[in-house]
Amino acid sequence: MNIHEYQAKRLLQEYGVPVPRGYAATNSREVETAISHLGDDMIVVKAQIHAGGRGKGTFTDGYKGGVKVVKNREEALDAANHMLDNTLVTAQTGPEGRKVQTLYFTEACDIEHEYYLAIVLDRETAQSMIIASTEGGMDIEAVAEATPEKLIRVPISPTMGLRHYHCRRVAFALGFEGEQVKQFARILTGLYKMYWDKNAMLVEINPLVKTKQGQLMALDAKVSFDGNAIFQHPDIQQLRDLNEEDPKEIEASKHNLAYIALDGNIACMVNGAGLAMATMDIIQSFGGSPANFLDVGGGANEDQVTAAFKIILSDPNVKGILVNIFGGIMKCDVIARGIVAAAKNVDITVPLVVRLEGTNVEAGKQILRESGVALTPADSLVQAAEVIVAQVNSAG
Ligand code: ADP
Ligand code: MG
Repeated sequence: MNIHEYQAKRLLQEYGVPVPRGYAATNSREVETAISHLGDDMIVVKAQIHAGGRGKGTFTDGYKGGVKVVKNREEALDAANHMLDNTLVTAQTGPEGRKVQTLYFTEACDIEHEYYLAIVLDRETAQSMIIASTEGGMDIEAVAEATPEKLIRVPISPTMGLRHYHCRRVAFALGFEGEQVKQFARILTGLYKMYWDKNAMLVEINPLVKTKQGQLMALDAKVSFDGNAIFQHPDIQQLRDLNEEDPKEIEASKHNLAYIALDGNIACMVNGAGLAMATMDIIQSFGGSPANFLDVGGGANEDQVTAAFKIILSDPNVKGILVNIFGGIMKCDVIARGIVAAAKNVDITVPLVVRLEGTNVEAGKQILRESGVALTPADSLVQAAEVIVAQVNSAG
């Protein structure tokens, strides 16, 4: 789960990381209040969307920049009027962009240098990884690509946690001296504590700046939390912004379905995450492209299967459906009845291929045959993938 910059900065502040003073606003009244709190100095107006690259982004009406440094109240108001309810396209939003429904107004800093600092869960080493760079402010992937030697990586063992020597090592690698080493150690310690306490998978400050006055501060913040641990953190759950999520994924989570939208055109309905991954792979290897990941779980019932069909079909890109069920704990006849009932409930307008295997498979196939539902049965996953890809491709 992701949160907005302004929410992440509040959290950072609770953990002792300095951030510029700022106020969020979602309508014109709040915009005025926020601006009046900041006075008539340099202000930064920042579009709040769950995507980075805002500074270099462009709104769909041609207005440039989702992060604007302005000189006074009038300019702040003007920037706010352009941004609020406008759609911002950045390198991370995809061409459709994101509608800006919240703005953040914050004090402008005199920047001397921009750094990058993040802590990320590194699955390969099963450790947390501190990633830092003197090349902050820009796209860190580009830095990693062009000048990988400029990325400092320090692994932190989950049993040892962050120690002072880790902080000093990163601080020295970034070129800090004296007072700034102390400031940096406080920031990294706070950042790590927040990452650990809140089950975050990523905390990223880009840029962390040194101001002309010698202060270290977080000017941007991104935090992603582990969705599987979120039930332990009601305070974090409250920060969820459904406007930023795919409506299909929200609907799926209501029905306990693990669904992730992708950009292909063959929808998959599978039980078990591993089988779902294999199904997506095999569609791809036959030249097709999966429209989603969908794991209906080990004990899906008729209602869930119906909901799954509805969610799949609400995606206008879907040109075919591949159902791939292995009846292990669940029996194939139960699933077949679920599919038939769902198909009668939902108008399935695209080719449907069903592959069943496992317990009571014959009974399941018979139910499908006798149901009158327009579908193509398949005996193997290879055959199922081949057939659905051919059907979708021939439909053009
Ligand atoms: P994004 O990463 O989405 O483009 P940032 O918040 O990192 O958005 O802002 C982009 C750039 O704008 C920063 O790298 C920094 O140079 C500048 N900037 C952002 N906030 C401030 C601020 N409070 N004061 C001065 N400059 C800022
Ligand atoms: Mg940034």
